[in-house]
Amino acid sequence: MAKKTHDTPMLDELEGGPWPSFVTGLKRLAKDNDMMVDLMGQLETSYRTRKGYWKGGTVGVFGYGGGVIPRFTELKDENGKPVYPDAAEFHTLRVQPPAGMHYDTKTLRKLCDIWEKHGSGLIAFHGQSGDIMFQGIRTDKVQDAFDELNENGFDLGGAGPALRTSMSCVGAARCELSCYDEARALREVINNNLDEMHRPALPYKFKFKFSGCPNDCVNSIQRSDFATIGTWRDNMQVNHQYSRAYFSAHGMTDLVNDVVARCPTKAIQVMKRGEADAKAGPQHSVAELDDELRLVIDNKDCVRCTHCLNVVRGGLLPGKQRGVTILVGGKGVLKIGSSMGTVIVPFMKLETDEDYEKLKELARSVLDFFAENALEHERVGETVDRIGLVNFLEALGLDVDPNMISEPRGNPYVRTDGWDAEVAKWQSRKKDAA
Ligand code: SF4
Repeated sequence: MAKKTHDTPMLDELEGGPWPSFVTGLKRLAKDNDMMVDLMGQLETSYRTRKGYWKGGTVGVFGYGGGVIPRFTELKDENGKPVYPDAAEFHTLRVQPPAGMHYDTKTLRKLCDIWEKHGSGLIAFHGQSGDIMFQGIRTDKVQDAFDELNENGFDLGGAGPALRTSMSCVGAARCELSCYDEARALREVINNNLDEMHRPALPYKFKFKFSGCPNDCVNSIQRSDFATIGTWRDNMQVNHQYSRAYFSAHGMTDLVNDVVARCPTKAIQVMKRGEADAKAGPQHSVAELDDELRLVIDNKDCVRCTHCLNVVRGGLLPGKQRGVTILVGGKGVLKIGSSMGTVIVPFMKLETDEDYEKLKELARSVLDFFAENALEHERVGETVDRIGLVNFLEALGLDVDPNMISEPRGNPYVRTDGWDAEVAKWQSRKKDAA
């Protein structure tokens, strides 16, 4: 039985809406947990005064440079004593989730037991960083909690200027759009660079994220410095049974409004069987809608946005030649504002052991370049912005490719020396890949 709860009229109001409220969860934990009782007291004060009362500090575990987010209360009485003493220290442990966030029930129960034993019992699956957020623990308990998590196979993720926890989407285990083994890519790249996580020596944070297809379910293009996104380079595959099922359930109006009209490059047409047969060839994918109508996709114009695959679920599928696109420089606001990743490798296969070695080498080169050339508190996207993409590519030994261009240039005064040679190189690379 915990101590008496504080009055929380403002928090109580949050339970009134149509959606489940986190306040209900906090109250449930507060029934036998003094820390949660006082946390609610401090939270209510924050809501009333519209001020946050947490400050940072230094808390860690042996052998690790990051991973614990210290939180000390600033809400003190006139004698300098915490107003809510049981929540005066409310640190967070950022723990790396398994790739694809696959857990079994036994593991989840174990994690809950460990946190109830050492911490507040409050866990967030998962924070925006991708970590399991074990929230609310006193300084003297941090090491014990970490040791027990570690004995169960879990590792602290990053905080501060370090390699941060990585994320991969649920991937091939449950999604037919997956274009590579995301879980393997995550583990290989992160395990190869663990030192940068445990003993941070980078100018600022660095995040890898892995999405199996261009839907990018882990937001890697926006939220990671190095995004690996699945794609394909041959023609889209079709499954007539599912494309027919879509058409019979939705009809022509939905097909035109939701599929054809929404293709960003106008690569899709509806045709009669005879017309479609005449089109069929190396460039087009043709899916049956019924006995007479066909959905025809011009693969040369398709930019692999995945919209039509999402809508005609199962009827349109990625091609057989699958791989990944690599982008660098996505991040939230900082010096140059929010930015999406820029393509540095338009397509690379990720099937064999050698392919994974190449990915690891590239990841390591980007990290090394970042460590040596970025300014303090600068994300790699800002470094690229500062020195120019061409210089960055040159340093990494990557070839320039038209797929890296995101918009036409706005400045007409550009020297074009060497452009013809680059075009010739690109054309010969394309010929070799075909
Ligand atoms: Fe168009 Fe290709 Fe996107 Fe489908 S995946 S909507 S064909 S660009």
